[in-house]
Amino acid sequence: MVSFEYKAVGFVGLGAMGKPMAGHLAKKLPPGALVYVFDVAQVAVDDLCKEFPNRVVKSASAKEVAEKCDIVITMVPEGAHVKSVYLDPQTGICSTDISNKLLIDCSTIDTATSLLVKEYITKNFPTASFYDAPVSGGVVGAVKGTIAIFLGCSETDANLPRLTHLLHMMGKSIIPCGGPSLGLAAKLSNNYLSGIIAIAASEAFDMGMRSGLDPRVLQKVYAAGTGQNTICDKFTPVPGVYKEAPSSNGYQNGFKVQLMRKDFGLAVDMAKRVGSKNVLGELGLKTYTDAMNDPRCRDLDSRVVYRFLGGNEDWMKDID
Ligand code: NAD
Repeated sequence: MVSFEYKAVGFVGLGAMGKPMAGHLAKKLPPGALVYVFDVAQVAVDDLCKEFPNRVVKSASAKEVAEKCDIVITMVPEGAHVKSVYLDPQTGICSTDISNKLLIDCSTIDTATSLLVKEYITKNFPTASFYDAPVSGGVVGAVKGTIAIFLGCSETDANLPRLTHLLHMMGKSIIPCGGPSLGLAAKLSNNYLSGIIAIAASEAFDMGMRSGLDPRVLQKVYAAGTGQNTICDKFTPVPGVYKEAPSSNGYQNGFKVQLMRKDFGLAVDMAKRVGSKNVLGELGLKTYTDAMNDPRCRDLDSRVVYRFLGGNEDWMKDID
């Protein structure tokens, strides 16, 4: 097996996803390698430094992380944060010499911002490499190290073996998607699909249940029929049908409806930009926007769209 040398790896953005991901690096990098971290929220930095005292080192800015490390991973919420982390003239990663460095952005953002950052880097530091690498699998996947990572690079990219080796410390499945920004395009089209399925599944369960069907029977029917999909199987929007689905636990610990709204909006914008006909986009976007603003749904797993659409959650008491 090929081995790679790691002296110092940087991580910027220690939120719900970034902190456990950086924690995996701290646990799995070879002895002697350090993890330099930065977040605008000091408490996240302090927590991780305390958990891994001889491994994780606090930095004063993204720029300082880049000065100390040959590889830097970023995981922040939106395009504006990615722009600031990379391009801020005083504190950004690109405000120091990043020649020959490997930069990996795991944030889920719009493809245009990712390409803008990549172009800036290619123009100013031709020997540096920048990749989009958004992830899927949620906070639970980040904690367990089982996330999927969609890499904006080709199968023949010279950096792919090194990227795969590093990213495998944080995730289970690493998929090269073809080229710059295509990891993001893949992630956004996946979340569009998953978001639409959740709405369709909620409506399908609701019409079946109102017609007199037990949702557990409906789930079996979908699983055996042409409607089979992961949302109905394992993220069942109706509570009490699949025990481990967030819906069965008060829609807690899932993929928040606000994040679905964000990704869905990015996907609809992408579809417009590339001229893809998109009849369900506006309806889906309105549904998630309204659900996100509904106090009964906000902060809960996005499959709470079943509640938003008026689905019966108390169905068990209507069954003999
Ligand atoms: P989060 O809000 O929990 O964490 C983001 C972190 O970035 C915060 O700690 C924040 O302080 C930090 N940050 C913001 N601006 C910064 C800056 N300029 N410099 C340094 N740090 C900065 O978000 P999250 O849930 O970890 O999500 C991060 C990204 O991953 C998002 O793009 C999200 O869509 C994506 N994602 C999230 C999930 C999920 O289930 N939470 C799943 C897959 C992908």
